[in-house]
Amino acid sequence: MDGLTKFAPRPTGVGEMFQLLRDGKPRTRAELAQITGQARSTIAVRVDVLLASGLLAPAGEATSTGGRPPATFVFNADARIVLAIDLGATHVRLAVTDLASTVLAEQQEPAAIADGPGPVLDRLADLALDLIAAAGRQVTDLAAVGVGLPSPVDHTTGRPVSPPIMPGWHNADVPGHLRRRLHAPVLVDNDVNIMALGERQTEYPEIDHLLFVKVATGIGAGVISDGALRRGAQGVGGDIGHIAVPHGPQVLCHCGNTGCLEAVASGGAIAAELTRAGVPAETGADVVALVRAGNTAAIRAVREAGRTIGSVLAGSVSLLNPSVIVVGGNLASAGEDILAGIREVVYQRSLPVATQHLRIVASRSKGRAGIYGASVMAAESVLSPAAIEALIP
Ligand SMILES: [Zn+2]
Repeated sequence: MDGLTKFAPRPTGVGEMFQLLRDGKPRTRAELAQITGQARSTIAVRVDVLLASGLLAPAGEATSTGGRPPATFVFNADARIVLAIDLGATHVRLAVTDLASTVLAEQQEPAAIADGPGPVLDRLADLALDLIAAAGRQVTDLAAVGVGLPSPVDHTTGRPVSPPIMPGWHNADVPGHLRRRLHAPVLVDNDVNIMALGERQTEYPEIDHLLFVKVATGIGAGVISDGALRRGAQGVGGDIGHIAVPHGPQVLCHCGNTGCLEAVASGGAIAAELTRAGVPAETGADVVALVRAGNTAAIRAVREAGRTIGSVLAGSVSLLNPSVIVVGGNLASAGEDILAGIREVVYQRSLPVATQHLRIVASRSKGRAGIYGASVMAAESVLSPAAIEALIP
């Protein structure tokens, strides 16, 4: 917004006013007039526009101090639904939510992303239509679809860009394909970005500087800075998996470089290292199982991977000064060992001023940060001030 438009009168300001109501509290016209500083007549028109859209609903009468009690109005999060899809390398999680990202129906299924975009997206659309029906809703209720992919994504086009673990998906028209089946706008982003959005919305709404680090088949980070997700110029901001580990082993990475964090400390890398040491493991899930069973070699390896991740994260802490680092992905479910390794090195390598209030914690969303974030991203596209202004004929 430039200096001129910033101070120009808004056509109606209904979009801004609607944001106040998204907290779900019922308000009267008089209260809205008082909060916004607008005339009662202006507020009456705005309320009518929102009632007609279905996004606002009557919520009974406020208690009166004498005379006729005034009517109250509340955000109607149930007016439409949002479909959230969190596609991983081997599984997909789908959810139907209301406009406030409350989950109405949810499903998890195996999915082979290597089958390519056509078959996978058709399967997702079939699952989505079944899930919408299971939630007791119609596909015509669908306001928007949010999708997270385990790939760099050009957020403006919604297309994956050179995805290392998704053969055949480069530049695939994911939004177009799903839109043809589901008849709603489709927004796509990198899975770690939507996890950052989801964890922040559900667990840390008051935190404006948060890093979400996913440690699984790959390693990546979603960056929330000054209250907003930062994707960078090409949408690959936060892609910490290919930062070289300081003084690390020169292991070949699938990106072509050597010594990348992902090649040294991901679930697969830990499994390979354990196998070499005589403890057979193939995947990150195997590593987690070994840790849970008390295998000391696995516990040691996971803690060491945590230290390695910490050595890279210490640089991010200096660069971004987050107040919370959330660690998610299936390796985080191995327990405290990975966190202990990360904390040890981050606190040691960062300046005290950057770490005195820094919390490094496991994700609390039990694997659901992705669907929450996909829902938040999609709902935001429908409920943003600009989208609400566009409702006005
Ligand atoms: Zn790499």
